[in-house]
Amino acid sequence: MTDYKKDFPLLAESDIAYLDNAATEQRPACVLDAEREFYERWNANPLRGLYELGVEATEQYEHARERVARFVHAKSEREIIFTRNTTEGINLVAYSYALSRLKPGDEILVTIMEHHSNLLPWQMAARQTGATLKYLECEPDGSFTEEKIRDAVTPHTKLAALTLVSNVLGRATPAEKLIGMVHENGGVVLADAAQAAPHMPIDVTALDVDFLAFSGHKLMAPMGIGVLYGKQELLEEMPPFLTGGEMIDRVTREGAVFAELPHKFEAGTVNAGGAAALAAAIDYLESIGWKEITEREEMLTAQLLAGMKKIPGVHILGSGDEKEHCGIVSFTVDDVHPHDIASILDEAHVAVRAGHHCAQPLLEWLGISSCARASVAFYNTPEDVGRFLDQLAQVRRMMG
Ligand code: PLP
Repeated sequence: MTDYKKDFPLLAESDIAYLDNAATEQRPACVLDAEREFYERWNANPLRGLYELGVEATEQYEHARERVARFVHAKSEREIIFTRNTTEGINLVAYSYALSRLKPGDEILVTIMEHHSNLLPWQMAARQTGATLKYLECEPDGSFTEEKIRDAVTPHTKLAALTLVSNVLGRATPAEKLIGMVHENGGVVLADAAQAAPHMPIDVTALDVDFLAFSGHKLMAPMGIGVLYGKQELLEEMPPFLTGGEMIDRVTREGAVFAELPHKFEAGTVNAGGAAALAAAIDYLESIGWKEITEREEMLTAQLLAGMKKIPGVHILGSGDEKEHCGIVSFTVDDVHPHDIASILDEAHVAVRAGHHCAQPLLEWLGISSCARASVAFYNTPEDVGRFLDQLAQVRRMMG
């Protein structure tokens, strides 16, 4: 079994069993090198300098955009907007698209399992436009019934925003079906790919999704770089989200002519070092390959699930099938608060997340206020999972 941890300085130098990958992944040396290389060799303000170094900085930045376009199978790199993270990408669509298009009587559809980042922007858009926010509820295992989907999508559904993978249940949503139905009714769909992009290939063209957002830091790139994909014809018609330098063609005392895509949506100095590092993260990820990544993550998830099912008092949220968890296993333990679970695991240097996971409507619907979550990446090992299981088996005794 390949040792990927050696590629990650933090993992190579510590004994941590890092099982909080759904919150943020670790960065391999090649990604850290790519960011440093940008500042060591090409640092100038991209899109501004007419001198050689400035042109090179721009080339590095635009090369990263092409790399991302290929990664998500966009038709053109003009459809790739660099953002800070998923949250900013979703807000861009909410402010720019939703506020200018929606009106009273229109419906915005979200699922009950959305991360707050894919919920609060739509609550805001509904409040400001008079549109109605509707929730599509899942079943306790994270699946969606045909009947509920059929009832949820109506001719008034002008916009649907759904995650491709739940950050709590780990389950993939029926995105293709929903996109097809919303399109038939004349609406558009935004996909939150924050939890999907690290674990499965994304093909925006095959999916025919209108907007898709993800964060670099969840797929090994630095924090502060993210991506919004949008269909060119939609982005062309949308007003800018943020205004200022870089996003203009010409400015007069009276107003401005905005720059062409994608720069219209990238106001101010951009995160070129982060973009270069994101391109390196994608290169690294694809050099390992989806087959290897999926096999390892499923193997680790199967180990997690099988072990947890044997520990009395542990309750797994979601289906419990390794193919339906995308490396994410959330759980509760009878009579033990999730924060105590995380603290006890931490004593054995096992890092898991505890809390509401920014998905409070889902947790409320499941009848709980918080849970713990272990999430694996391909670089984790059976030893990491084994240490987690050994310590989890002690949790109730240690609280006793
Ligand atoms: N959407 C989902 C499904 C997530 O899991 C997260 C982060 O955990 C986000 C959105 C927000 O990501 P970010 O904080 O990088 O904007």
